[in-house]
Amino acid sequence: MTRVVLSIGSNLGDRLARLQSVVDGLGEAVVAVSPVYETDPWGRVEQAPFLNAALIAEDPAYDGQGWLRRAQEFERAAGRVRGERWGPRTLDVDLIACYGDTELVVREPNLTLPHPLAHLRAFVMVPWLAIEPDARLTVAEGPRRVAQLLAELEPADRAAVRPSGLTLELKGRHS
Ligand code: AMP
Repeated sequence: MTRVVLSIGSNLGDRLARLQSVVDGLGEAVVAVSPVYETDPWGRVEQAPFLNAALIAEDPAYDGQGWLRRAQEFERAAGRVRGERWGPRTLDVDLIACYGDTELVVREPNLTLPHPLAHLRAFVMVPWLAIEPDARLTVAEGPRRVAQLLAELEPADRAAVRPSGLTLELKGRHS
């Protein structure tokens, strides 16, 4: 069994439908979905706010590379055009952390786990904590509580992630 924490975001088109497409695509593998947050865009490019959410999925058939392939299939299906690095995106699906018997550490050309920027991103940690308040993440110093990592960010970074009032719908075994 592997368990993955995914961060999903969209700031183009029907943003909520893009996020829902990931929940629907993962189907019964989804075990938890966060509320949807609206986040001011990061980086220097002028662009619209993002909708962001986190979800946790479990599937015995997937390792880190397997989850990455699925994530990229969802991005492709949403019509994401890979352009400017921090530019607008129809759908972004990032693997934040992946667990087998223990947390997987991966350093491959196309995949780094845990995600190297997760501990700097309020839009990843705020939704994750909403579904897993005790979450831990391995950073350079070792395993840390995500709540503590979030507390160490600038207040403005945390304030940029706001509840949107929108929710994603869980179907399948959950309904
Ligand atoms: P981005 O455009 O920022 O979403 O980056 C996508 C690229 O990052 C892809 O080519 C992935 O192969 C690579 N990548 C490395 N580690 C991860 C990860 N943990 N989650 C998602 N993509 C990753």
